[in-house]
Amino acid sequence: QAKEEGRNTYRFYTPNLTETAQERLGLEARLHRALASEEFVLHYQAQVDMRDGQLIGCEALVRWNSATEGLVAPDRFIPLAEETGLIVPLGEWVLRQACAQGQSWRAGGLADLTVAVNLSGRQLRAPDLVERVTRVLEETGLPPARLKLELTESMIMGQGERALDLLRGLKRLGVRLSIDDFGTGYSSLAYLKRLPIDELKIDRDFVRDIPADSSDMEIAATIIAMARNLRLNVIAEGVETSEQCDFLIRQGCMAGQGYLFGRPQPAEDFTSLLSDHQTAKHAYR
Ligand code: C2E
Ligand code: MG
Ligand code: MG
Ligand code: MG
Repeated sequence: QAKEEGRNTYRFYTPNLTETAQERLGLEARLHRALASEEFVLHYQAQVDMRDGQLIGCEALVRWNSATEGLVAPDRFIPLAEETGLIVPLGEWVLRQACAQGQSWRAGGLADLTVAVNLSGRQLRAPDLVERVTRVLEETGLPPARLKLELTESMIMGQGERALDLLRGLKRLGVRLSIDDFGTGYSSLAYLKRLPIDELKIDRDFVRDIPADSSDMEIAATIIAMARNLRLNVIAEGVETSEQCDFLIRQGCMAGQGYLFGRPQPAEDFTSLLSDHQTAKHAYR
């Protein structure tokens, strides 16, 4: 009887599981091909001084320009790329592309921006990350101080003591380190204090419902105070309204990123924005 039931259950679920596995395999194969045929593109989103809208940097965000599906958001392929390890070559492509772009804006006299690049846990676990970053900086000519690497709390904590050596190695290169999605992890003040980082990036979750949600406002204010006490820079992500902007400035967070200042956009569009900005010499916002 039990066996019979088990078999029924098994037969019932098999087709679905098979389908999912096949879908995954299909996606995995298509991602590999996409990397080889250069179907990935970077979009750039402005990071500004919220007081005057002055551009201070940008974040590179990857998209997959798929022939069949159009522009695919990273949430739909980064997790699988991480699982399969494809994120390592993809992440290196992103890093090289973003550094080359930043250097080309500098060389063209357009802007001297800090370019932020997201790293994944898998890249952090690779034994030669510091060497890879060194090589990309040398090859592209971007000054290390113009590169900001965004890491999450969980990525760093998952590395245990090794994380400290790794972050110190990256800092020795002269790059900046930012903790992305800050506030969603579990790092203590004591732990944070030991990390050789430059910036906390307040997660969008705590910005979105300002000013409706008073506990989110308290969390945002606490992160800002924490950054001040640890002598770290702080930037808010997902700033969409002037109320959010004003609140953050009042609390002491001057840097921001979000739709209020600009959506992520293709390199060409970001470049023309930079040249408009330069000729007009007016505030960006
Ligand atoms: P993230 O690093 O936290 O990036 C911020 C995300 O918030 C981006 O989504 C951006 O488009 C979005 N965003 C920015 N401002 C606003 C706003 O005002 N409102 C709203 N609703 N959203 C805003 P995106 O580009 O879809 O990227 C999602 C995530 O995918 C990123 O989150 C990051 O974790 C990951 N990702 C993107 N590019 C890369 C990459 O090159 N490598 C790795 N490892 N991960 C990446
Ligand atoms: Mg990020
Ligand atoms: Mg983020
Ligand atoms: Mg986020």
